[in-house]
Amino acid sequence: MDNCIFCKIVNKEIPSAIVFENEDILCFKDINPVAPVHILVIPKKHLTSLNDLTEDDMAVTGRIFVLIKQLAAEFGVAESGYRIVVNCGPDGGQEVGHLHYHLIGGKPLGKKIG
Ligand code: 5GP
Ligand code: ZN
Repeated sequence: MDNCIFCKIVNKEIPSAIVFENEDILCFKDINPVAPVHILVIPKKHLTSLNDLTEDDMAVTGRIFVLIKQLAAEFGVAESGYRIVVNCGPDGGQEVGHLHYHLIGGKPLGKKIG
């Protein structure tokens, strides 16, 4: 995807603070963190949003959640707790059109979900 900022991060055309990378997943620090821990976890394959998922993506999305669990432990929030946010589309507040999972923690996040 030519104009996708996260594809550019995947391709290292734009620098980012990468915390984990494998063949099909990239994890990097959010440039504008809302909490002490704020990591973005993305499939390297361009999917615009959750709306693009198909059964072919089940393996990578499953791996993403296991990875999130590992990152939560690595960044010290497994016990204190954390939140996973996936915004989808305009009403969901999605600003970057490449599927991403926010891992947010390191402070009490409150109960607000909508
Ligand atoms: P969304 O609102 O689409 O769910 O979240 C997009 C997130 O991407 C925001 O939290 C924003 O701070 C982050 N972001 C946008 N551009 C960049 C960038 O160039 N580098 C990094 N590391 N994060 C970015
Ligand atoms: Zn993309």
